[in-house]
Amino acid sequence: MHDLTPGTLHGIGMTSQRTRDRMVDRLRGQGIQNEAVLSIMAATPRHLFVDEALATRAYEDTALPIGYGQTLSQPYIVARMTEVLLEAGTPPSVLEIGTGSGYQAAVLAQLVPVVYTVERIGALAQRSNRLLDSFGFRNIHFKLDDGHTGWEECAPFGAVVLTAAPAEIPDTLLKQLTHTGRLLAPVGTGERQQLMLVTREEGLFVRRMLDQVSFVPMRPGRE
Ligand code: SAH
Repeated sequence: MHDLTPGTLHGIGMTSQRTRDRMVDRLRGQGIQNEAVLSIMAATPRHLFVDEALATRAYEDTALPIGYGQTLSQPYIVARMTEVLLEAGTPPSVLEIGTGSGYQAAVLAQLVPVVYTVERIGALAQRSNRLLDSFGFRNIHFKLDDGHTGWEECAPFGAVVLTAAPAEIPDTLLKQLTHTGRLLAPVGTGERQQLMLVTREEGLFVRRMLDQVSFVPMRPGRE
């Protein structure tokens, strides 16, 4: 686990810390209660995960483009998904499908021992890998692949999170959960999807519908 204390990273001005604190106040107002999640988001320089031209908008309550037609989710969604993943305790490891900018992986890696993250677009995978390495993260493992297949060699995972929307939750990913594992995914093919939480209870997969969300689609293959 890592501590991205302000000042240890380049490019963080005083303004950013104040802006981050305001973002966290807003998240609290929106109902986020997990203090660990809130303090990690207050300390994580979200503006370094987007293009410099968008840095001033990084702490607004909005999704931002990260290139290649992909987006970094709004802070509320990152906070909400992280909170739900940790609700039943800290899982030993998390598998994320859709590394994108690396922001969600960075937040998770400060809260759980090990993060595995899979991205299908080579340029994004390379950029986020380099960025997170430069921050000193040693507990994030990257793979360039189609996330539909998960990460068999490193399974099972206490938690799996999809940050791109499949039409249906891939069975392969459910099979890579531990017996007490939970999977969180936006599911659907429209502009808006249903955020679904799958938990394992006495051998069965139990599905719960949470919020309506808007994610980019999960696509097959790699680029
Ligand atoms: N978690 C990211 C969100 C990125 S957007 C962040 O914090 O920035 C969703 C990402 O999922 C995109 O980068 C997209 O390329 C990726 N993606 C879509 N389908 C995928 C698949 N089948 N396997 C792996 N990644 C996928």
